[in-house]
Amino acid sequence: TESLETRDPEIFGAIRKELGRQRHEIELIASENIVSAAVMEAQGSVMTNKYAEGYPGRRYYGGCQFVDIAEELAIDRAKQLFNVGFANVQPNSGSQANQGVFTALLQPGDTILGMSLDAGGHLTHGAKPNQSGKWFNAVQYGVRQQDLAVDYDQIAALAVEHQPKMLIAGGSAIPRILDFAKMREIADSVGAYLLVDMAHFAGLVASGHYPSPFPHAHVATTTTHKTLRGPRGGMILTDDEGIAKKINSAIFPGIQGGPLMHVIAAKAVAFGEALRPEFKEYQRQVIRNAQGLADQLMKGGLDIVTGGTDTHLMLVDLRPKGVKGNATEQALGRAHITCNKNGIPFDTEKPTITSGIRLGSPAGTTRGFGEPEFRQIGDWITRVVDGLAANGEGGNAEVEAQVRAEVEALCERFPIYPAL
Ligand code: PLP
Repeated sequence: TESLETRDPEIFGAIRKELGRQRHEIELIASENIVSAAVMEAQGSVMTNKYAEGYPGRRYYGGCQFVDIAEELAIDRAKQLFNVGFANVQPNSGSQANQGVFTALLQPGDTILGMSLDAGGHLTHGAKPNQSGKWFNAVQYGVRQQDLAVDYDQIAALAVEHQPKMLIAGGSAIPRILDFAKMREIADSVGAYLLVDMAHFAGLVASGHYPSPFPHAHVATTTTHKTLRGPRGGMILTDDEGIAKKINSAIFPGIQGGPLMHVIAAKAVAFGEALRPEFKEYQRQVIRNAQGLADQLMKGGLDIVTGGTDTHLMLVDLRPKGVKGNATEQALGRAHITCNKNGIPFDTEKPTITSGIRLGSPAGTTRGFGEPEFRQIGDWITRVVDGLAANGEGGNAEVEAQVRAEVEALCERFPIYPAL
């Protein structure tokens, strides 16, 4: 019965501070969002107490009748949302969803072909420091020098040369729409599975603003917490019954134990929200806002990789201003605008420095920002970057303070979590 505040004031204090940060600062990290109070209520529920190894109706523990309701709803809603025959909602994260697919369909030493991290791929697609790069013979593709678009010719050539068992489409910093039909054609040409990792754009797929990976993908993975706006977690989808069976065994008992039933309940709530008409409107605004921000930044003299975006995210090339990604992330942070430094394709700076930042619109759009607000944010970013360009690493403290005050005024107008 003791409250968190009295039981553990240090953690209580950290959580209050984090709430304050989210309330008063602009979140532009492309992989983040702001979940509803209902999603948080489910995630903070008594379902955290329950062991439920296995799947609904086939558990290794008693007393699972109510968590089964939650998992069945999550599965049914996920299938409806993405129009597929099978969903496994148990992966604890996007990384574990990918690991589950590899466990289901590959053997150690097999060849995989994924996008390299520096071109916009994800660590789990075969990057050296990741298990996917250690346990598999990982070959990596990139983007074309001339227009920074995904290089399908290179993918086709690498597929013929290396004969991968799996081709992976998707990534963490790809602003444009991928051609899944083409990827499947390449996969078929060498008898490879096509895995689409739609972690970033799953919400846009759910709302019909991005082409579905299906029927092209053999299997698709996603996180549930990015554009999809659910709790932190992962999910695997397929239309292939044989693959579905292998996926279930790969997640449990293959790589996970007891599923996080409180998180699965929260996934169900988020998928229910995503099935509502408002979610379509939300995603449409996410894209408009990202496009407005990209346009405004270009007007301010910054480059946008590929000249814009079709999605919720963009990569800002800072080189026209002569500033670095790490310094820009810090300067914007001082102005209460949160983003991450990010390498741009063919970046000559180290990953700890970079020539770019990655920006996304999902969180800001959730709190109600429209295109005028995102264009305003674009102007603030340009002012802060210009301050850095003129003053070096330390930036222009006066400009940053001015922007910070304006950011806080905007955030006041678009409050989040009023009941907390
Ligand atoms: N796949 C892609 C494309 C991602 O962007 C991410 C998130 O960073 C992941 C997988 C991994 O998700 P998680 O951070 O939940 O492990």
